[in-house]
Amino acid sequence: MLPGLIAGKYQRTQCELHVARLLKNSAANWIQASARHINAASQVITLNTGQQISFDTLSIDIGSAMNKLELNKRIPGAAEHGLCIRPIDDFATQWPAVLARLRQKPQSVVVVGAGASGVEIILAVAKALALSQTKAGLTLIAGTRGLLHNYSPMAKRLAGEVLQRAGVQVIDQHCVGLTSHTLSLHGGLRLKCDLAILATGGHAPTLLAPSGLSLNDYGYIRVNEYGQSHSHPNVFAVGDVSASTPYPHPKSGVYAVRAGPPLLRNLLASANRHSLVAFKPPKRTLNLLNLSNGSALAIWGSWAACSRLFWWWKNVIDKGFIAKQVQRIAQKEMPKPAQKVSTS
Ligand SMILES: Cc1cc2nc3c(=O)[nH]c(=O)nc-3n(C[C@H](O)[C@H](O)[C@H](O)COP(=O)(O)OP(=O)(O)OC[C@H]3O[C@@H](n4cnc5c(N)ncnc54)[C@H](O)[C@@H]3O)c2cc1C
Repeated sequence: MLPGLIAGKYQRTQCELHVARLLKNSAANWIQASARHINAASQVITLNTGQQISFDTLSIDIGSAMNKLELNKRIPGAAEHGLCIRPIDDFATQWPAVLARLRQKPQSVVVVGAGASGVEIILAVAKALALSQTKAGLTLIAGTRGLLHNYSPMAKRLAGEVLQRAGVQVIDQHCVGLTSHTLSLHGGLRLKCDLAILATGGHAPTLLAPSGLSLNDYGYIRVNEYGQSHSHPNVFAVGDVSASTPYPHPKSGVYAVRAGPPLLRNLLASANRHSLVAFKPPKRTLNLLNLSNGSALAIWGSWAACSRLFWWWKNVIDKGFIAKQVQRIAQKEMPKPAQKVSTS
C-alpha cells in the first residue's frame, strides 16, 4: 500500500495495523522491542532493551532490510544521501516532509532500482507531484538488466509505456555513486539529483549472520518444506527472511501472507510434539502493480495487461486485508455483555 500512500490515495492510518491491540486478550505476550541478537544454540534472544528471552520454539519473520554498509559498497554515498524505501515504516514517516520540500520548488527526483517496487514508487511520486502541479524531473535508474528484469517482455513493454506517459526517463545503467545533489552512472554520466529514493532490493537482516542458523549465500534462513530451519528444528521462518530450499520463490507479500496459516499449524504441532505439515507455495502468483493512474498492471507468468479493473481489485484486496484485522480488533475490544443474574 506504500505507493498509494505516497500518491495520496491512502492515509497512513488506513495502511497500519495495531499488533498490540490485535493480540489483546490472547495468550500472546506483546513486547514492543527489536531483536538484536539471536543465539540459536543456547535458545536465547537479546532485545534492544537488553532483555533476554529464552525460547523452546522460535519463529523468525522479520522480513528483509536495507543494509547501509552493503548499499555503500555498491553505491558509495547511498546510505548518507539516499532515502531507503525500507524499513517501509521509516519511509512512510519521512514522506510527508520530503513531499512538502519537493513541492516548494522544481526538483529532480531519481528512483534507483526498477523492480516492481521501484516502478510503483516513481509513478506514485509522479502522481503526488502532479496533484500539486509541481514540476519535477523524474528518472528511474534501471541498471544494465533494465526495467522489471524478473518479468516478461509484455510486462516490461507495458510498464515502459506507462512510465513514458508519466514523463519518467528510464536509464539502463548502474548507479555507482551518490552525493547530496549528484548521482553518478557507470557510463560516466552524472545527473542532477535533489532526491534519490533507493529501491534496490532488500538484504538479509544483519542479526542473522552470528545467530548460528544455517543461511543461504545471501544471508537468509534456509528452511525446509515445513518452514523449519535446516540447522535448528525448533526454529521456523517464513516470508522475506526465509529461503525455502525445496520450493525457492521470489520474495513478496503474497508468499509471506500465504505462509502464515501453515506456520501457525506447524508451530503448534512442534510445541505439542505432533507431526509437521508440509507447505508447498504456489509456483507463480498474480502480481498487481499500482500504476498510480487509476489502473494497475497485472502480471501472471508471461502474460500482462493494464486495466482500471485490476486497480479496483488490488485496492479491494489490500483494504480488505486491513479491514479484516481492524474488525478482529473491534471484536476484541467490544465490551462483553453483562452476565444475566438469575433472581429465581
Ligand atoms: C514499495 C513496495 C511495494 C510492495 N508491493 C507489494 C505488492 O504489491 N505485493 C506483494 O506481494 N508484495 C509487495 N511488496 C513486498 C512485500 O512488502 C514484502 O514481500 C512483505 O512485506 C514481506 O513480508 P514479511 O512478513 O516477510 O516481512 P515484513 O512485511 O517486512 O515484516 C517484517 C516485520 O518484522 C519487523 N522486524 C524487522 N526486524 C526486526 C527485529 N530485529 N526485531 C523485531 N521485529 C523486527 C519489521 O518491523 C516488520 O514489522 C512490496 C514491497 C515494497 C518495498
